[in-house]
Formats: sequence, C-alpha cells, structure tokens
Amino acid sequence: MSNNSIIAVAIDGPSASGKSTVARLSARELGFHYVDSGSLYRGLTWKCLREGVDTEDPAAVIELVNRTKLDFFVEEGAIRFTLDGEDPGAQIRSMPVQERVSDVAAIPEVRARIVQHLRETTRFGNVVMEGRDIGTVVFPDTPFKFYLDADPEERARRRHQELAQTAGDTTVDNVLASLQRRDRKDSTRKTAPLQIALGAKVIDSTAMQAEDVVRIVVAQVRGALSAT
Ligand code: C5P
Repeated sequence: MSNNSIIAVAIDGPSASGKSTVARLSARELGFHYVDSGSLYRGLTWKCLREGVDTEDPAAVIELVNRTKLDFFVEEGAIRFTLDGEDPGAQIRSMPVQERVSDVAAIPEVRARIVQHLRETTRFGNVVMEGRDIGTVVFPDTPFKFYLDADPEERARRRHQELAQTAGDTTVDNVLASLQRRDRKDSTRKTAPLQIALGAKVIDSTAMQAEDVVRIVVAQVRGALSAT
C-alpha cells in the first residue's frame, strides 16, 4: 500500500480493456477516489502537440514537462488535474493525442515525474487507479492488483464507441490498428512496459459486463479489509 493506512487498488491492462469503467465504478462502490493515470500522459501529449513540441524529441518533451505545473483536485469522486491552470478536457481523447501518447509515455524522465504525481494523489485518501504500471511501479506493494484484458476486436469495438463522441468518423478497423500500434509500443518500451504485476488477479473481460468485473474487484478489497 502507498503509505500507512491508505489503500491503493491497482487496475492495469491494455488499451480499451475496460479499465476505466471498472475502475470508476469500483471506486464509487468502495467510496475511494478514481484516478485515470493515462490522462496525465495524454494531457502532457496534448500540451506538446498544442505547443508544436515534437513528441519524438525526448529532450524537447522533457523540457515541456519540467516547466508545466500540474495541480490536482477532486471532482465528483475523481482526481483530476490542470496543466498550467488549464483543463484539457475531452481533447486528450482525440486521435492526434492517441497516436502520439506512447512516444511521450516511453520517456523515462516523463514517467518518473508522473509516477511521483500519481503516488501523491493518495494525499486525498484511498484510490482506485487505472493504468499500465500501477501494480508494477506506482504501488508495487499494494495487495490489491488486477490485470484486465479482452480480445483486441472487442477492445477496438469499445474504443470506437467511445471515440464516436469526440473524434468523428473513424472506423473500427482504424481504431483496432491504432490500439495494436499503441499496445506494441507500451509493451515493448524499456521503462515500465505493460506487464502483469506479480500477484495480480488476471480478468478476461471479453464476454463480461463491467458490473461483473466490478463485483470481483470490490469483493476482493472488502473481503481483505473485513479480515483485518
Ligand atoms: O489508459 P489510456 O489509454 O488513456 O493511456 C494512454 C497511454 O498512456 C497508453 O497508451 C500508455 O502509452 C500511457 N500510459 C502509461 N502508463 C500508465 C497509463 C498510461 O504508459 N500508467
């Protein structure tokens, strides 16, 4: 766990594996704060793109990250943030951000800074945090680790539905290709690649409703807490 009595529930997995829905609902059920760690990587990528910083130029990205002030706050049970006072909102879900975020997330200095911010979110209280390295790097000592997976086609279908609200007319095939490119980069990078954390409970959600997965997560946390 993160510090003393604070509880961190780690939910990792590839893109569109259902982590966000499951983490958000589990947090609500448990009365914990929900943290979407990917939104930090996406937010900084959005800022790079807006300022014309080449995401394939690590030195330029690090410079931007070092001069960007992140402030965290709680809104409707979720921990959110501003970048230099600005909330990028739904723009972090756009296709340009989606295409570049894995470049930014592969830079060790960027990861170190974000990991530090993520750990500090526990100052608000208990968290359910979703991402790629939450159980392996951010909270390696938490006893509550889950790894969510689903077939790539099902993941693409889910993400396509989500994107339809923000990114206009993209096809499921385009989304699938983009997800697979991102998964490949996220799983093969040198620093904190996506992998199943030691001791994580692996859940294949392809044929499951989010509510069923939430029940598993909540039962495990409540069971452990009532046993102590
Ligand atoms: O979860 P989401 O799809 O929003 O994450 C966007 C990207 O941020 C991922 O593809 C990955 O490159 C990066 N990420 C990461 N580590 C995390 C969360 C996200 O590297 N803990």
